[in-house]
Amino acid sequence: MEIPVEIGVVYEGERIRKGEMHVELGGPKVKAKGELVRARKMDEIKDGKIEVKGPDLSEMEEGSRHSFGIFVEVAGKQVEEDLEAVIERRIHDYCNYVEGFMHLNQRYDIWCRLSKKSYGKGFNTLRYLGDALITLFKAELPIIEKIQVTFITDEKRVEDFVRNARKIYEARDARARALSEEDVKEFYGCVLCQSFAPTHVCVITPDRISLCGSINWFDGRAAARVDPKGPNFAIPKGELIDETNGEYSGVNEVVRERSLGENERFYLHSMFSSPHTSCGCFESIAFYIPEVAGIGIVHRDYSGDTVMGVPFSTLATQTGGGKQIEGFLGMAIEYMRSPKFLQADGGWNRIVWLPKSVKERVKDAVPGELYDKIATEDDATDIVALKEFLREKGHPVVERWVEAPPEAIEAPELEVMPAGAAGGIKIILKNAKIHAEKVIIKRVK
Ligand SMILES: [Zn+2]
Repeated sequence: MEIPVEIGVVYEGERIRKGEMHVELGGPKVKAKGELVRARKMDEIKDGKIEVKGPDLSEMEEGSRHSFGIFVEVAGKQVEEDLEAVIERRIHDYCNYVEGFMHLNQRYDIWCRLSKKSYGKGFNTLRYLGDALITLFKAELPIIEKIQVTFITDEKRVEDFVRNARKIYEARDARARALSEEDVKEFYGCVLCQSFAPTHVCVITPDRISLCGSINWFDGRAAARVDPKGPNFAIPKGELIDETNGEYSGVNEVVRERSLGENERFYLHSMFSSPHTSCGCFESIAFYIPEVAGIGIVHRDYSGDTVMGVPFSTLATQTGGGKQIEGFLGMAIEYMRSPKFLQADGGWNRIVWLPKSVKERVKDAVPGELYDKIATEDDATDIVALKEFLREKGHPVVERWVEAPPEAIEAPELEVMPAGAAGGIKIILKNAKIHAEKVIIKRVK
């Protein structure tokens, strides 16, 4: 099978805009999408087999959108269930190596596009993508001895596939919940995203899953074992410098080295002072709201405006790129279930706003007495309404207002400017100085 386009790392950062796309597979406008890797026994799969269930590229109308599932089955003497998540994460990279094919996000959230140009060159079947994946997986991860790939584009079938996949993601996450940072000697690092965020290092601990939500501590450990020189590696945790912030000497050392000196220290459980950096694939964003001294959260699937008056995409351009940005933190939804969730900043006691759908999803993790005190889009769509809601409900954050009543504070001026190449809008909190403990907003000359 001769693939009609080029394949190489050079195409990794390629973005395909709406006007350039032939078709969109998955993405925010379709309900069913997802990807999954399963480890199989050697005799259970047929090496090199590629299947397309549902319409193939040549049967799709130009400019159309489709449900999409990518199902990869692998086998090999060293291939264990432990490695599934890590192999799954590589689907992202390998799809992006294909000229004119874009892959964003992970798990149940994938978003792919094929360019008109590549379609024009003859890339008219998903079998070419399957062939590229098989070749790359075998070349990069020699432990994979057999591999077969199934693409699903039939909506009903994708729905069934994703329903099953969600159970498997949940089982992976549940396993890591039983462990905590105190129980282990090593954490794991991930630099898979350095191709577009060169100073970003993801630190994965039992209390902190990767910010994309797809690699937990067990997955990191499995990856580092089979490929210690690869993008996932062990981080000896070293000394505990600060328990509340979650600062470890071993983490700081690795962050310094792997961020090329750009960052010196990481607080694993705070969004202030020395927060963890964010690449671009975070599932959600925690953002500080100085007017109420609280923290809002928005997830990628939420398309409306946040209580800040801007959507996820706008906050994302401010958060990502591998820089430490106080008051903006990219994180996994699963991290909200961590017993150490933003513990230095007050944890759930500090969360004041999040979309209803994600609030319901993490209901088991929200302290019962707080649940009704945290606003959603139904309770507040701007800061004034939020302030009123929090006061009325007696949210614990209101206690922080005593020293500087919010009425007396001048709201920071939001400057909206185009973010150039990113195509989005960048928000700059002008005249505002964010402070972790109290509401202090000063004019800055
Ligand atoms: Zn990333």
